[in-house]
Amino acid sequence: MSNPHAVGIDLGTTYSVVAMLDETGRTQIIRNTEGELLTPSVVLYEDSEVIVGKEAKKATAVKAGAVAEFVKRDMGKKYYSRTIHGEKLHPEVIQACILKKLKDDAIATVGQNFEVVITVPAYFDEPRRKATADSGEMAGLKVLDIVNEPTAAALAFGESLGYLTAEGNTREPLKILVYDLGGGTFDVTLLDLKPGDFRTLVTDGDVQLGGHDWDMRLANYAAEQFQKQYNLDPRQSPASLAALLANIEEAKHTLTARPKTTLTVRHGGHVAELPIGRELFEELTEDLLERTAYTSRQVLAAANLTWKQIDRVLLVGGSTRMPMVSRMIEQLTGLTPDRNVNPDEAVARGAAIFAGYLLHQRHAGSTPHFKVTDVNSHSLGIEGIDQRTMRKENVPIIPRNTPLPAKVTKKCVTKAEDQLSIVVKVLEGESRNPKQCSIIGKAVMRNLPEHLPKGWPVEVTYEYLTNGRLDVQARLPGTSKKVDLELQREEGLTAERIGNWKLVLAQAKGFDAFEGMLDEVMHASRADRHAAVKGPVSLTAATKRIPDIDETRDLTAAEKAFAGIDAQLAPTVEGRGQSATAKVANKPAAVRPVVNPNPMRISTEPAKSLAAAKPLMSAPGAAKPSANPPADLKSAAVAAATSFDEREAVKQKRRRPARRPPPAVMALINVAALLMVSAVAILLFYYLIAWSTKMGDFLHLNLPGLRAPKVKQTSWIDSVPRAMSYVHAIFDH
Ligand code: ADP
Ligand code: MG
Repeated sequence: MSNPHAVGIDLGTTYSVVAMLDETGRTQIIRNTEGELLTPSVVLYEDSEVIVGKEAKKATAVKAGAVAEFVKRDMGKKYYSRTIHGEKLHPEVIQACILKKLKDDAIATVGQNFEVVITVPAYFDEPRRKATADSGEMAGLKVLDIVNEPTAAALAFGESLGYLTAEGNTREPLKILVYDLGGGTFDVTLLDLKPGDFRTLVTDGDVQLGGHDWDMRLANYAAEQFQKQYNLDPRQSPASLAALLANIEEAKHTLTARPKTTLTVRHGGHVAELPIGRELFEELTEDLLERTAYTSRQVLAAANLTWKQIDRVLLVGGSTRMPMVSRMIEQLTGLTPDRNVNPDEAVARGAAIFAGYLLHQRHAGSTPHFKVTDVNSHSLGIEGIDQRTMRKENVPIIPRNTPLPAKVTKKCVTKAEDQLSIVVKVLEGESRNPKQCSIIGKAVMRNLPEHLPKGWPVEVTYEYLTNGRLDVQARLPGTSKKVDLELQREEGLTAERIGNWKLVLAQAKGFDAFEGMLDEVMHASRADRHAAVKGPVSLTAATKRIPDIDETRDLTAAEKAFAGIDAQLAPTVEGRGQSATAKVANKPAAVRPVVNPNPMRISTEPAKSLAAAKPLMSAPGAAKPSANPPADLKSAAVAAATSFDEREAVKQKRRRPARRPPPAVMALINVAALLMVSAVAILLFYYLIAWSTKMGDFLHLNLPGLRAPKVKQTSWIDSVPRAMSYVHAIFDH
């Protein structure tokens, strides 16, 4: 079999792009089946069809509850921030639907035999990277690696300048700043570009900042203007807001080319035409741009460089087309930004180059003309306990911006006398406070030797392996205890669930077929939901050609004071006499292969064809996905419920009563309720006193035991504030 084709996928928040390496080794953008270079990262879930791209984007205004967009912003979270048909979906499943469409488009151009590199923002943390790799897996892609978007963009830039060829060796080294402002994320990265050597120096960014935020500013402005005119807010209606946002994106693009445009706002039967000038738009969004300038300055400072030392600024991402961006960059850096590579295509092209590089390494066994070195964008640490304060703290082990791969050993000590087990809680983030970091997972070393004194040294090693995964090892010096620990993930899907979703996506036609999986997700037992993904976790993609760093150092005074790995955090502390079992086999659940004549078709045909497609689906002879349900996939069983009533019944079944909160929460609720009742009682009591003493005259009331002073009231309402201040005074004193 011939070597696989190298394909790069830029899985963007708003648009995705696919590129390949042609026979000459040059990059080409693969057009989608609609003939376009960019595919909107939007999914429309019809009952019997999943539609990705332009048609899905068009449906956002009319079928808001069935459309998923900006899903990349939710990667790493358990659920997508909106519901689809009233159901919660995992963001990685929605991304997998987009990838499935991109995969089908790639197949149409290069055939079945290809492997991919998928890009992520450099500032993506580990759970987001893992979720992206899982999406690729669920889409049935052969994922070679996950690479940082700015690194990919720099590769495309290097290609355009001839830095990737053998002849490129004569070229000058360059320091380049990649400023990537897309639809939903922002990244800024400094790279050292030498002939044959691409090295990331520093990276920073914001995964919640992009062109969509510019759109929202304009949307808020337009909605306020509309409100002034009609006393109605178009943001209150999802359909009106979606239509408004579609118009706004167009208006924003127009403002890139012209100084003014007109925005149409439709809501509640009214239409408003708002003139918008570029100046106003820039005023409304000035602070967003300043946030990107601030991050750029931070990156420069972290690299200990001045703008004079930067040779080129590369603009990547559709939003860098806005004139305000290049103006700001020029003011900030004193450099005219480079426009060598199309900002929409740079990332996908670079990903294809990187895929080619990895395939070349694997198949040809020879060394390519260049190498790439990335850094980690977030520090990896361990949760420890400061012995002076007994507070939990995040102790960095692999600091951010460390060239990868990296291997670092940290010396810690046991917290207590005769400690039974050790918990290594892997944290990602810069804060000393573990609560402000993401928990990647934890690993437990059990059955420590008996009678270990308090403060016994423990060496914990984090290693980014050559396959881009994190390996955690722990060793007790002076004993034979040394284990490779396997992390139990806090979030993310289990290997079993990924396997099941992969089957569903491969076979299902539409949202109907998702139901069974949703049922499982919603009602999985707590234990199941927290089930560990066994096996090392995947970390930042990197090219692994630099020697390992081993920073094993002696305990510094600060570290000595900083003792500890928290034994109490161990989920279970095993008794003595059991054998130490540190390694748990990584066995994805056996899933029976299912033969289905109707593989899932992710279509981008016009929405009107859907109506036609529906009756066709149920026409005699047209096999339904449910025709032959696989016994071991609940989803397929539910997919068999094709009639609406049955589907409703399934939904009803799923809506089981909420589980009772745990006793501690119940106790809190009871106390809160008691406090509230007491507060109301006290309030009533004082009202009664005020009423009887100050309003007695007015109401002609003479309550026994209470003498009403003779206060003249003009209206009983006047007494209320006085009564209230009486209450306040009582509480104040
Ligand atoms: P992502 O990779 O996050 O999907 P892209 O790099 O594809 O983002 O950029 C998409 C963003 O760029 C959108 O917010 C889009 O509105 C914006 N954009 C594209 N072209 C222009 C333009 N001519 N003027 C202003 N913004 C643009
Ligand atoms: Mg992008």
